[in-house]
Amino acid sequence: MADHYEVLGVSREASDDEIKKAYRKLARKLHPDVNPTEEAAEQFKSVTHAYEVLSDPEQRRRYDMGGDTGGFGGGGFGGFGDVFEAFFGAAGGGSRAGRPRSRRERGEDALVRLSLELGDVVFGTHREVEIDTAVLCETCNGSCCQPGTEPERCDICGGSGHVQRQVRSLLGNVVTQQPCGSCQGYGTRIPHPCTACQGQGRVRSRRTVGLDIPAGVETGLRLQLPGSGEVGPAGGPNGDLYVEVHVEPHPVFSREGDDLLATLEVSMTDAILGTETSIDGLDGAVDLEVRAGVQSGDVLKIGERGITGLRSKRRGDLRVAIQVVTPTKVDGRTRQLVEELAQRTKAPEPRLSEHPQGLFSKIRDKFRGA
Ligand SMILES: [Zn+2]
Ligand SMILES: [Zn+2]
Repeated sequence: MADHYEVLGVSREASDDEIKKAYRKLARKLHPDVNPTEEAAEQFKSVTHAYEVLSDPEQRRRYDMGGDTGGFGGGGFGGFGDVFEAFFGAAGGGSRAGRPRSRRERGEDALVRLSLELGDVVFGTHREVEIDTAVLCETCNGSCCQPGTEPERCDICGGSGHVQRQVRSLLGNVVTQQPCGSCQGYGTRIPHPCTACQGQGRVRSRRTVGLDIPAGVETGLRLQLPGSGEVGPAGGPNGDLYVEVHVEPHPVFSREGDDLLATLEVSMTDAILGTETSIDGLDGAVDLEVRAGVQSGDVLKIGERGITGLRSKRRGDLRVAIQVVTPTKVDGRTRQLVEELAQRTKAPEPRLSEHPQGLFSKIRDKFRGA
């Protein structure tokens, strides 16, 4: 390891002040923000280490006696970070210090809510959605300047975006960097801001976005469209657009996973004799065959007429529960026929079902495919 005094370029008799000055001078030349080469980074490290040792009286004494070649943080400082901050200021933000800030920033993400019918979800759908957003200013193309003009270098900070300030600290007077108040740290000023966007490089506008909604989406699901959000300040990259889906309840069909559920009312006579019928599914007619003797709570399963799964891309089933409807008003002749029927079929007395929850759970279980 090189001699600490040699590294700092001072004599063995150098005063604390001379050591401090020598370090500051070298650090400003070698700091990674100023001099991003690997060689400079190595030198900066050894210069900083040398300073740490020699600026601490106890460590310097031991070093002079040949007893100390210790590492960082052995003395009064907490390590590299403290020395670093003492010279460059915590506010400088580490590696960003020294470079002016860019006007171009990423735009905000945007969120739109989209209402869908259950039928839209079966196969997916396409929608055109109008959103209120920020778009690139076409007058200045994001430069923020009136056409024909350019940003000017800030003469307060000389274009660096930072100003240096002397502050008193542990190490005496040290220099810290702060964003330049005159140019807000941009290093440039815009003498003639674009009038169309007030120098923002973007304007608010309504924009129509085409959305492909995949099949199988559910209420609350958010679709992400990268790069479809707001354009950033000064024409910075777009944020993302999020589309939150809300699926409206359907008057006839409900949904369980990718299956569709419905209830079919069947007259008492159709239940006894059986019938064929056709219902309006969400994607066209569905033929149903109701067998003779069907019971309330029986479920007809029609395969692959449900919703196309969001991930599986496979269609669920349509399950139709039967509800037998008993006529409430019958005329004399009908009543006579039913009485005759009752006698002929020797209908059993009403009795408790052996299924403890009877119909209450039957429909539920059958809908669940149990
Ligand atoms: Zn503009
Ligand atoms: Zn400035």
